[in-house]
Amino acid sequence: MTLSVLEPAAPAAETVSQRLSLIGRTRAGLSDALAEIGIPEKERRMRVGQLWNWIYHYGVRDFAEMTTIGKGLRGALSERFTLDLPEVTAEQISTDGTRKWLIRMASTGPRDRGAEIECVYIPEVDRGTLCVSSQVGCTLTCTFCHTGTQRLVRNLTTEEIVAQLMVARDRLGDFPNRSAPGGAFVPKDGGRFVSNIVFMGMGEPLYNFDGVRDAIDVISDNEGLSLGRRRITVSTSGVVPQIGPLGDQMGTMLAISLHAVRDDLRNELVPLNKKYPIAELMEACRTYPGLTNAKRITFEYVMLKGVNDSDAEARDLVRLLKGIPAKINLIPFNPWPGTKYECSDWDRIERFSEIVFRAGYASPVRTPRGRDILAACGQLKSETEKLSARARLMLDQDDAAAA
Ligand code: SAH
Ligand code: SF4
Repeated sequence: MTLSVLEPAAPAAETVSQRLSLIGRTRAGLSDALAEIGIPEKERRMRVGQLWNWIYHYGVRDFAEMTTIGKGLRGALSERFTLDLPEVTAEQISTDGTRKWLIRMASTGPRDRGAEIECVYIPEVDRGTLCVSSQVGCTLTCTFCHTGTQRLVRNLTTEEIVAQLMVARDRLGDFPNRSAPGGAFVPKDGGRFVSNIVFMGMGEPLYNFDGVRDAIDVISDNEGLSLGRRRITVSTSGVVPQIGPLGDQMGTMLAISLHAVRDDLRNELVPLNKKYPIAELMEACRTYPGLTNAKRITFEYVMLKGVNDSDAEARDLVRLLKGIPAKINLIPFNPWPGTKYECSDWDRIERFSEIVFRAGYASPVRTPRGRDILAACGQLKSETEKLSARARLMLDQDDAAAA
């Protein structure tokens, strides 16, 4: 594993924060930017198209490179705006090629140091998957998930969600005619390094519905970042009322974090189940817009030793999913400091997956990737937050001692 903690970029003499970045904006957002600098309405659509192409297709970092746009307009844009990406404060590269970036978002006010989120790139033989976050932290409190213990929570903006893909493509040299800083690989076959996106980082994407929907519009636009909706998966812990709208408005692949086949256990593991129990969740899945055998729902099931990993539960899982075009994804639990759970033994996972497989489901066990850099799902949590969580634990202990 290699870790580089990057030097913070020296702030320019002028107050950079006064100029907003255009990175991550929707077409409407870019149009607003043009209105701000006095571009007449009838010209804006055409100008938005030009900006869109330079920003999202070519990934340019400087208005001066936008050669189809006249010098005057480029100057006016750069006086008011930037093409800055959020700052990457640390990059870790695993021995298996997985990369994890700690990204600091722009500050939203004088008392905000800028929220930090993590984003992970996982290269595989036939694809490169980027795992992105939809929120800083998560308001839900799934008992096996590290993100759920984070105190600070807010929705990421559309721009901040899109920026994660922009950062990844930038650092991987994954834009046309570009190579990565440090001379990383460039695709020779016209393929992209980031070919798939999963919303499986921090946060519950369906609690940030509008932000995620608009970000997916930007990401999937085929004149720009061009990542098709079939290659984007939104994972939810089961926000039932938003599952139909997700299919209608975003048209992406759906993943459900199921993890248990009985309400009593799921209430404990995924407390949101008390609000939307399994039967309601299954009904929302059955009626998911666009569901076909070619567009199946992925059911995620984290393997917790002695908790949810018996043969009987594997059989119940198969029964529960009957009639739903589904894939089952068994996830070895990733332990984190302080957790009460353990990962199921390997032969138990194999036995569980065998039962599921014999019932006709492909059940790939998600190979743990980037373990040496704590890059796996459920471990996406910034160093600063880890420290504050530790501090909080000490406070809790003090409270307990005082009681
Ligand atoms: N909030 C959404 C998406 C983010 S979590 C959701 O819950 O679906 C992405 C996936 O990682 C979920 O399936 C989640 O249950 C799983 N996960 C969380 N913590 C984990 C851990 N410690 N080990 C393995 N998987 C975990
Ligand atoms: Fe939130 Fe998903 Fe973690 Fe549950 S598993 S706490 S919903 S991020």
